Amino acid sequence: MSKKREKTLHTFAIPEVKPEGWLKRQLEIQMQGLTGKLFDIWDSVGSYSGWLGGTGENWERAPYYLDGFLPLSYYMEDKEHWDTACRFVEWTLNSQDEEGNFGPVASKEDYWSRFVMLKVLIQYYEIKKDGRVLPFFDRYFQYLYKKVPDAPMEQWSSARIGDLLYCIQWYCEREERNYIPALVEMLREQALDWVDIFAEFPFTRPAAYYYDWNKEYTHFSWENYHDTMKYHANHIVNVTMGFKYPAMLSYFFDDMDYEAVSLTGMQSADKYHGVASGAVNGDEHLSGNNPSQGAELCSIVEYMFSLQTMLEAFGLPCFADKMERLAYNALPATITEDFMAHQYLQQANQVLVSKAKRNWFNNNEESNMFGLEPNFGCCTANMHQGWPKFVKSLWYRGNDSEVVSMVFAPCRLETEAEGKKLCIREETEYPFKERITYHVENASHSELEFKIRIPRWCSAYKIYKNGICVREEENREKTGEVVSVCRGIQTGDRIEAVFSMEFEKSHWFHNSVAVERGPLVYALDMKERWETAKVVAGVRDYEIYPESAWNYALEENMSFEIQEGHVGAVPFSKEYPPIRLRTRGRRLDSWEIVDNSAGLLPVSPICTDGKEEEISLIPYGCTKLRITQFPWYRNEDK
Ligand SMILES: [Zn+2]
Repeated sequence: MSKKREKTLHTFAIPEVKPEGWLKRQLEIQMQGLTGKLFDIWDSVGSYSGWLGGTGENWERAPYYLDGFLPLSYYMEDKEHWDTACRFVEWTLNSQDEEGNFGPVASKEDYWSRFVMLKVLIQYYEIKKDGRVLPFFDRYFQYLYKKVPDAPMEQWSSARIGDLLYCIQWYCEREERNYIPALVEMLREQALDWVDIFAEFPFTRPAAYYYDWNKEYTHFSWENYHDTMKYHANHIVNVTMGFKYPAMLSYFFDDMDYEAVSLTGMQSADKYHGVASGAVNGDEHLSGNNPSQGAELCSIVEYMFSLQTMLEAFGLPCFADKMERLAYNALPATITEDFMAHQYLQQANQVLVSKAKRNWFNNNEESNMFGLEPNFGCCTANMHQGWPKFVKSLWYRGNDSEVVSMVFAPCRLETEAEGKKLCIREETEYPFKERITYHVENASHSELEFKIRIPRWCSAYKIYKNGICVREEENREKTGEVVSVCRGIQTGDRIEAVFSMEFEKSHWFHNSVAVERGPLVYALDMKERWETAKVVAGVRDYEIYPESAWNYALEENMSFEIQEGHVGAVPFSKEYPPIRLRTRGRRLDSWEIVDNSAGLLPVSPICTDGKEEEISLIPYGCTKLRITQFPWYRNEDK
């Protein structure tokens, strides 16, 4: 094994980047919603949890929950919730046995749930600098070093070793231990080989093409290696977590181009299973790019975290483009505005939310409902990490004299560079607006290089420093890049970036078209009728019925009238969306609901003699019912 490679970029520690503006409001809503309430109302993570020594759930759920709940409590300065999160941390730190294993005794043979708890402890350490954490990691990794030769990683643990490698890499940045290279070598041998899977990408069709869940599950066997691989290698959450695996190997091995493998994996998943929201369809195995298939909430937040780790490893701006696409479209769309209910599966074309059979590979009839735990409770536990970890994904440090504003949202960076205080407040209504203003509140840095990512979608931009344009480009080739704005910043400096957001049409399944502007994807605004299907633990499960037509096609050269508002108390609001687009479309009567979803998209261009009607589109993240990928027609087809 070669010498360890350094990261290309580094995230800042949690206390160094704080949410502001609309992002802070989004986090407040989350805390007032399920994240703040879950401990009290949901037994899986409540006071009987195995992770508090109780007889309740003792596997992944409490660690999942804490992975978002702990940093959120910190950002919100919410002492009561922070203390609750720390009860789990204390119990965990005290649970380590003589061998170095930790966690609930009843699940002590399981590795996977421990990986998640290590990620929680990393965040806890960044905030509290608790001296017990690093020795705890050391003892656990020594335990693994002795244990895994005889009790190898299997199933979820094998498929998700990338997350363990993330924790090992984090530890290696702080302390060196001689046994670590050999441990990493063993883990690579026991891991589900995502490098091979992404390089070859054998799953070019929906999982249903390769096997029939209902037929094969009757003799599906976890003991059978091929069944196991078939299950895990196209399981959507595993795939999106697996994206980080090549990046993690790149720190320990230099035997191949891991960056290329990462890119190939992402591109192939998009090509064969991607939809306009940025999600990769999997319900819950890779399910093709038909926009009526589903994408699991766990896979959205896990993909976002993988991208953060990939940005650190390789520094490529395309990972930031993807991060914004997921965070600003797929994530808010699949959780209610009050953060009290979520879906297991979202559909890019979602015209009916109800308990009904749909063409999922192996998820149940409740999967697209909004509720406490539709289908299965993994997302109920895991969704909390989405927004808090997003805050940590905004800024990066290249070296001690370089800061990169990589992903854009209102926040405040407060750190040290070159041994001096550095404080920059980023003010913006991005992704809804084009302008980002950086107020340098504290700096006296003559050498510090200030860098900004130029998004891939941006064809023209201007960057100003203290009112003077220091960088501009027009008609640029649409690629992502990171550019240097200036070297040296001082207290009182003001840097502004203006990215022209123009309409863009992207093409998808059956040549359908999606409307994009900046990082946002737009979807048909539909009238909805919400009905409470049931109430569990005081939380409502909803069905949503369409009260307006959805089967529209767009004209090939449609134009849009923009109505701009402000980002309100609820940033991704259906009632008050920050932007609304008005355009015209024609009904396509032959496009109907089939199996409780929008029927198969006709291949565009299509012929329609329907009357043109005015329709409006709002950001995908503001919608719960929608069409996102539209069929389209040419005007001569009248
Ligand atoms: Zn899930």
